[in-house]
Amino acid sequence: MSLIVQKFGGTSLAGLDRIRHAARRIVETRKAGHEVVVVVSAMAGETDRLVGLAHDISPDPDPREYDVLVSTGETQTSALMVMAVQALGVPSRSFTGAQVRVRTDTAHTRARIQAIDVAPIRDELARGAIVVVAGFQGTDQEGNITTLGRGGSDTSAVAVAAALKADWCEIYTDVEGVFTSDPNMVPAARKLERVSYDEMLEMASLGVKVLQIRAVKFAKQYGIPLHVRSSFSDEEGTWVVTEEDVMERLVVSGVTYNRGEAKVTIFGIPDTPGVAARIFSEISDSGVVVDVIVQNVSTRGHTDLTFTVPRGDLSRVLPLMQRLADEFGAAGITSDDSIAKISVVGLGMRDHAGVASKMFRVLSEEGINIEMINTSEIKISVVIEEKYTELACRALHEVFELGAGTGISEES
Ligand code: ASP
Ligand code: MG
Repeated sequence: MSLIVQKFGGTSLAGLDRIRHAARRIVETRKAGHEVVVVVSAMAGETDRLVGLAHDISPDPDPREYDVLVSTGETQTSALMVMAVQALGVPSRSFTGAQVRVRTDTAHTRARIQAIDVAPIRDELARGAIVVVAGFQGTDQEGNITTLGRGGSDTSAVAVAAALKADWCEIYTDVEGVFTSDPNMVPAARKLERVSYDEMLEMASLGVKVLQIRAVKFAKQYGIPLHVRSSFSDEEGTWVVTEEDVMERLVVSGVTYNRGEAKVTIFGIPDTPGVAARIFSEISDSGVVVDVIVQNVSTRGHTDLTFTVPRGDLSRVLPLMQRLADEFGAAGITSDDSIAKISVVGLGMRDHAGVASKMFRVLSEEGINIEMINTSEIKISVVIEEKYTELACRALHEVFELGAGTGISEES
């Protein structure tokens, strides 16, 4: 008998039919002899609706009251799920975040989990019940309701799994798993059977939206295997596991793209200590998150600095950069919002030389110019012209042999 946490996302709970469908799956797992704890999101669109109401009634909603309101989406689905399970003749009981004492800090709208009291869950499991916990919500030390940030019910599920020392955590969503690339962009993309926590973290930070990044960090920290799968089919999804448990050793396991950034260059700034610190602290003070940064070699005491920011923030960053350029006596600024960041991610990069050169060669063969490069231990990102996004993704997917049936390579 295993203890399994099953988390259902909004699309898997959109309407009573989907909830009944999920309930049948939960009961099947129970009848197969496992203990089951369920964590639910709100119905698809419900959190957006509640957030909209809050902003309609106040331009700047009180964060405490905002959390009281938006947490109700998950409270609804937890009770409905229990009713659906009970209708199948199985005992079940719901718990709010407060009732299982998901204790968080006081950072309303983006609280972090500090502890969970699993005793009430264990009691219910002991009497043979299926426990349903409302995701996304907790309470702070004073008992105020808090929420964990958008997509936070993934984190709730993994935290509950960690606290219960569950055998694994299943994340039910509307996609089949984690793919080697976006199938809409790369038709040859295929579902990965297994991927490591670190690869998943890189992919999530590059914009692959199947899992909340905090949930993956939590799972890695506590060694909880995650099974990302679709509630619309019975197929196995993708397991997110430790490196040792990733059997299929791929040099590269994914190709991702991001067309949501813009590039800013400031030319001819003094190459003296403190200039970069000043520029980037002004940008971060304005609430903008910088991604890739490249600084040129210095000539005659001056240098150029190029960086990317979310496209939607460009209009905020440009006047700021103009002011700094004037202040530093810089030669000028330019920007480009038709760029794309293309990345390859893979554990195998650690012990295979030549991934970067292969990537750059393939792009050059397609006539694609590389404007910026950024690497981590298991990732290489390049910034290119946006119009080449599809070509670049397909070419890289092919050269790294990620297509159906070709992905497996013997370790060398
Ligand atoms: N319902 C919340 C949201 O939409 C939490 C979640 O679904 O994970 O952000
Ligand atoms: Mg969600």
